[in-house]
Amino acid sequence: METIPAKNMLTRTKNNFWFGTDYNMNIYRGCSHGCIYCDSRSDCYGIDAFDQVRAKENALTILEDNLRRKTLKGVVGTGAMSDPYNPMEKKHQLTRQALELFKRYGYGVAIATKSPLVTRDEDLLLAIQKRSPVIIKITITCADDALAKIIEPQVAPSSARFSAIKALSDHGIFTGILLMPILPFINDTLANIKAIVASAAEQGAKFIYPAFGVTLRDSQRLYFYDQLDAHFPGIKKEYLRHFGNAYSCASPQAKNLWTIFTRECQHYGLLYKMEDIVGRYKLEHGSQQLSFFD
Ligand code: SF4
Repeated sequence: METIPAKNMLTRTKNNFWFGTDYNMNIYRGCSHGCIYCDSRSDCYGIDAFDQVRAKENALTILEDNLRRKTLKGVVGTGAMSDPYNPMEKKHQLTRQALELFKRYGYGVAIATKSPLVTRDEDLLLAIQKRSPVIIKITITCADDALAKIIEPQVAPSSARFSAIKALSDHGIFTGILLMPILPFINDTLANIKAIVASAAEQGAKFIYPAFGVTLRDSQRLYFYDQLDAHFPGIKKEYLRHFGNAYSCASPQAKNLWTIFTRECQHYGLLYKMEDIVGRYKLEHGSQQLSFFD
């Protein structure tokens, strides 16, 4: 696999609002999952050949050095700019080896992924969880596998992602869904949202965190519009009419979707507010730690 130079593997988060993380890590650069809406294609990140996955050179050595030096042993988030469980991970196991290091040095982890490969690392996640908080966020945007295949073409079907949630939850790993982005005029239907919430509950998810819209800018917008023309004829016109060049493109249904979404989550006992999700996964770790030392 091609590598790119790196100096640091951990960056401190500005505030730890986003799932209570203290650090961010991207062990890979680029992503081959092909999501038509991917924000990481934006010019501001400067990632050329985005669909090609590359590893950071000496990533594990640098990461170990970073972990050893930090005075704050917090939660490391991964999965923001590339999927830590991209197809290369199956062979190269960089994410798995990073988890080994988190375990050794006493750090927690917050993983965002679309891949069921995360279940391979259940043993390490459970081991980390004995000392530190662990949360797994699996992105699901479409209840329907056929629609997911169009907007996330190289990703496992939604049904396989739901199975991964069940496997992790059955093992006692705090797991839930990132329900984002919800694309205006495509998957922003009541039926889609209700089906995802119901399946989440059925598979043992603890939470769903949604965004009823999408962000678009520069080259990422052009790529997205090309994909709309290829797969959803006529929809680009709706985007241009409703959003022009706006960065934030909320679904015209957002208010209604939020009302139904919160009602359904309450019905099934799923968490959906950030402070509740963070509070619970950090507390669950705490209660496990107490019983661990009993
Ligand atoms: S999985 Fe994430 S990083 Fe990869 S293409 Fe999809 S949105 Fe982009």
